[in-house]
Amino acid sequence: MIKSYQKLLDGNKKWVKDTLAKDPNFFKKLSQGQKPEYLWIGCSDSRTPANEITGTGSGDIFVHRNIANLVVQSDINIMSVLQYAVEVLEVKHIIVCGHYDCGGVDAALTNNDYGITNYWLQHLKNVYHKYSDVLDNIDDKRAKADKLVELNVIEQVRNLARTQIVQNAWKRNVLQIHGWIYSFNNGLIKDLNIIIQHKDTLAPIYRFE
Ligand SMILES: [Zn+2]
Repeated sequence: MIKSYQKLLDGNKKWVKDTLAKDPNFFKKLSQGQKPEYLWIGCSDSRTPANEITGTGSGDIFVHRNIANLVVQSDINIMSVLQYAVEVLEVKHIIVCGHYDCGGVDAALTNNDYGITNYWLQHLKNVYHKYSDVLDNIDDKRAKADKLVELNVIEQVRNLARTQIVQNAWKRNVLQIHGWIYSFNNGLIKDLNIIIQHKDTLAPIYRFE
């Protein structure tokens, strides 16, 4: 049996060699700590690696990924990541990056039984219900899923804005939240230009173009 995982370990050795050839102090610098400016909340999809698609490297982005890039306040995992990123690392930007052709979004558009994942997908179904007047009128399956991808990112930005962690950061005026969508079609990221107009309220107002 071919050990397919071996290529990862071999790849690591090659990467170390190549990296040191370019910068002999690379790992020495990394070991001194991190000060990333960005928190990335993306999808677990293997085709959406934060550093690779943004042309960044080690130390640049603090990353949290889950199925369909959801911000769920009862999820201790993402809330811990958020608190550490905002209060300890003091990131300046939080990016919620969804992507078209998202398997999580596609799954939420069905009534299939996905076991325990049903609980997670329910958050997406809630987004659907909120915008059902828009989504029910889109007949094309792909177009409907793409619209839900966009609406989901907007809702997750709102969920972020409602957290006490972000509200507290805004009192210090140090944080911007962005909603982006990545496309496999051309590799480009689209900025949804979600503008938060009222920073110091628990009910922020957004403009979406
Ligand atoms: Zn996805």
